[in-house]
Amino acid sequence: MAPTEALQPCIVLRLQAYGEADEIAVLLHPLRGRVDAIARAARKSRSRFSGLAPFAEVGAMLQSGRGRLPNLREVVALGPGLGDAPSWTALCLASHATDLAAQCAQPEHEDTRLYAWLRHAIAAVREGTAGRARGLRVGIEATLLDALGVLADLQVCARCHRSTAAGAAWPDPEAGLLCSACASIDKVGLPADVVLALALVVDDPRRLHDLAPALGSAAAGVAAHRIAQRVAQVVPGVRKGSELLREAIAADEG
Ligand SMILES: [Zn+2]
Repeated sequence: MAPTEALQPCIVLRLQAYGEADEIAVLLHPLRGRVDAIARAARKSRSRFSGLAPFAEVGAMLQSGRGRLPNLREVVALGPGLGDAPSWTALCLASHATDLAAQCAQPEHEDTRLYAWLRHAIAAVREGTAGRARGLRVGIEATLLDALGVLADLQVCARCHRSTAAGAAWPDPEAGLLCSACASIDKVGLPADVVLALALVVDDPRRLHDLAPALGSAAAGVAAHRIAQRVAQVVPGVRKGSELLREAIAADEG
């Protein structure tokens, strides 16, 4: 890392108090992956760090310090983050997304797909969660799996490679979908509209917010379950914090 650098785009995953007045910012950088940096005296004065807030996309100026972690010299906001006065549900969903990103990102590891995924996830949550919380979770997790390259192909049968567009079963989260011909009729758990909604959101994560109602419908329950199982397989640390998220989703539906 060069001694001082220009402002670079990052998303703030987490902030934690450090020492008397410092803060450690856990950042996601599209080319460098996870960067942990120290914001000196950030808890005394926010003047150099006005944009430093969880979920915000910021321009960050980093400088290598004497210690192990780089210093954060300056931070400016680049985008609206989660917006003003986000709801409790929005905070829970966005925290879930940033927790996933923090678990998946590695230091000095370029991952522009993970970065783009997190931007879309936070934008979809910012657009509104009322009545959408369950579908947003499903969509956020499905698009993460796709960004990581570990989501089964949803559009073809894992056994016969015919289309799943008429509806499908999903017996195994890793192996993928079975068409209605390969699955016994009583095991077809995903109707055509759910398969289509999943395929559309994976194809274009900018549609996360629009597709959330379809992804959170009762008919999408099997998909929600299989996607959550797959996430638990590939991101083992993610269970932490999910109790609050479940409560928030239940409250959203209540
Ligand atoms: Zn088949």
